[in-house]
Amino acid sequence: MSSSTVLIVTDVQRDFCPGGSLAVEGGDDVARRITAWVRAHRDLYGAVVATKDEHEAPWHHFTDHPDFLNTWPPHCVIGTPGADFHPDLHCDPDAIFTKGRFRAAYSGFEGTDAQGTYLETWLRGRRIDDVHVAGLTSDYCVAATAWDSVHAGFRTTVLQDLCAGVSPDTTASVRSELAAAGIPFVDSSRFVAEKRSA
Ligand SMILES: [Zn+2]
Repeated sequence: MSSSTVLIVTDVQRDFCPGGSLAVEGGDDVARRITAWVRAHRDLYGAVVATKDEHEAPWHHFTDHPDFLNTWPPHCVIGTPGADFHPDLHCDPDAIFTKGRFRAAYSGFEGTDAQGTYLETWLRGRRIDDVHVAGLTSDYCVAATAWDSVHAGFRTTVLQDLCAGVSPDTTASVRSELAAAGIPFVDSSRFVAEKRSA
């Protein structure tokens, strides 16, 4: 844990939280837990970044009869309140990466910052080696971000207590797939214990 670790706060947006169009149970609690985590342990990280799903016309991503696997009710439409970060999320990100304007984009690594820089390029520019992923949802955008992260060569961990999933079944199967790829799901408290013993 050092300046070479980044926290990626994934898609903690109103539409993915209770009251939103694609609400995940406990999404608002995740917003508050991430805020508390960053406030208490910002010193663990060289950088904190946030990602946002932001759609304008995402081909086939939205339908009126979603299967909640590949198609979804409209969500995070650019310019609507649902695309905003949850009001209880305060993580003061160093950069925000948006994704999905014209097509589905689950991974934060598909996102670009305000200058058009891709997340991987941004992380390499800051000599990041370790990636912690938190946010929404464990079984889709968190998982896709963690998957791309490990494939890009970063040591990658999912902070499971700072995430919530669409469904327990898909979360469990994604968790075992990611574990097989060398991506552990751990509680954030483990890193506090490591910090104390360091
Ligand atoms: Zn989307």
